[in-house]
Amino acid sequence: LVSRKKKPQDTVVEIKGERVGEGKPSFVMGPCSVESYEQVSTVAKAVKDQGIKLLRGGAFKPRTSPYDFQGLGIEGLKMLRQAADEQDLAVVSEIVNPADLEEALEYLDVIQIGARNMQNFELLKAVGSVNKPVLLKRGMSATIAEFINAAEYIISRGNENIILCERGIRTYEKATRNTLDISAVPILKQETHLPVMVDVTHSTGRRDLLLPAAKAALAIGADGVMAEVHPDPAVALSDSAQQMDIPTFHSFMEELNK
Ligand code: PEP
Ligand code: MN
Repeated sequence: LVSRKKKPQDTVVEIKGERVGEGKPSFVMGPCSVESYEQVSTVAKAVKDQGIKLLRGGAFKPRTSPYDFQGLGIEGLKMLRQAADEQDLAVVSEIVNPADLEEALEYLDVIQIGARNMQNFELLKAVGSVNKPVLLKRGMSATIAEFINAAEYIISRGNENIILCERGIRTYEKATRNTLDISAVPILKQETHLPVMVDVTHSTGRRDLLLPAAKAALAIGADGVMAEVHPDPAVALSDSAQQMDIPTFHSFMEELNK
């Protein structure tokens, strides 16, 4: 059902007036994790100032170590919702457990499925059965065919509002956190009718590469870019090394808009 052979025209995913996949690039910006209302509200204002509609922030964090910050859960989602509502933004946030989905639906506009859960088939079926857009990230060791099949799990349950997100894959290369598979973008655009975004933060893991990676993503045909923004990255509770501070975010957007 996600195949372009089944449906030749592009799917446009509508989120509170933002039309992802229609031609104009969309941006998903916000902190790695929701840490406090003040933190997300500062970022929400900056996001609004750039004319961006989609505010991200992790409340349920899938951390590699069980001793790392695990996120504020539903309380975090409420903070993000409030900050977003004050700026008329839409909320993008990850869900890791089908049991949290129903309550979370009250607070978010786009359900993110993270790389670590791309093949959590019960979660995919659960989000396929609800009436909310899904941002599906590529698993860090997933082939493009496996990625497309994960989207198929969602659409086969009835939900066709899916945005695919390339976020880098694991290779032998250590210069970047993951290897951004830029050619996945045109392949996914050819093989599916879904919008495709690129997450420049988790793919590169390097602040100095965010802008060139975002330019490459848009040049190769991505429908949008995701990146992380934090008021004070040095004290961030997750992904401290790669989030942009607010002045850097503004210059990043100005450069991209050129
Ligand atoms: C995220 O976007 O918050 C995240 C955890 O990314 P990924 O699932 O791509 O690692
Ligand atoms: Mn992060």
